Amino acid sequence: MTRACSPVGMCVSEPVFHKLIGYLETRYHIQRLEEAAPEPAGGRPGVSITFDDGWRDNLPHLRALDRAGHPALVFLVTGKMDQRFPFWPERVVWLARQAEQEAETARRLQASFAGTALRWEPAGGPAVLLEALKRLSEDAREKLLSRWDREFWDEPSAFTCDSLASTISWDEARAFRGTNIRFGSHTVSHPLLDQTTDAAAELSGSREAVEAQLREGCETLAYPNGNWTPAVRAAAETAGYRLACTTEERCQEPDGDSLLIPRFNMSDGKLVNPWGRFSPAVFEFTTVWKAWRAMRSTC
Ligand SMILES: [Zn+2]
Repeated sequence: MTRACSPVGMCVSEPVFHKLIGYLETRYHIQRLEEAAPEPAGGRPGVSITFDDGWRDNLPHLRALDRAGHPALVFLVTGKMDQRFPFWPERVVWLARQAEQEAETARRLQASFAGTALRWEPAGGPAVLLEALKRLSEDAREKLLSRWDREFWDEPSAFTCDSLASTISWDEARAFRGTNIRFGSHTVSHPLLDQTTDAAAELSGSREAVEAQLREGCETLAYPNGNWTPAVRAAAETAGYRLACTTEERCQEPDGDSLLIPRFNMSDGKLVNPWGRFSPAVFEFTTVWKAWRAMRSTC
């Protein structure tokens, strides 16, 4: 959970994760997303823990959660199992860092923007480049990304600087059979479902792969990047999903849509005090208090 090339705001470091779980144990009821009760259990609000993408560095934490008797749900990208740097954001972060350090790489990278709407300066940093790419059409983005993979990508050097950027294998997933850890779908190739023409195939293909590989039902989904539209939601329902998660940072209400379950994206920045230690007050402010205020503003 300390991947060097993952975009900012995606990772929780190991000591902070353990402190967070310890805090949740005392104040919340950690429950399966699939069996979440609409009302607080025993006076404690319910909370479910999910992991997106199936990163290999999640494994120790999944085992620790299971040993402690806590359920968790991992959303797998079924076409990108057991791969190094499987997703383009990590490859782009690596490339942006190369461009920050090497003027020639920066010049060649910027030359590749010609004919596109993309604008980026190395001083802007990787996050700005990622956001600019997400605003391009899927077609324009795919063309640029495959060109960059051809011209710049150097897997050994990237893996040397970030050896944790790989996904788990089906065998590693199967090792959790019969435990508190379960697996759901995060599509076949992690496209932005509101932009792709293949949403139906991505949704059904991934569900079928999880069921075939793990020999258990797969009725849970996380929309990649949280992107959804009413048409995407309908496609998820048609593909057989019963529960689907967004990345909208709210609490699920008792009568909330089970195919649009909001979630809080946890990262160290939302959990630690200025000295880098887990802080219950920071957690409560960045999640619970903000969610409560958002609910009140819609009443
Ligand atoms: Zn994802």
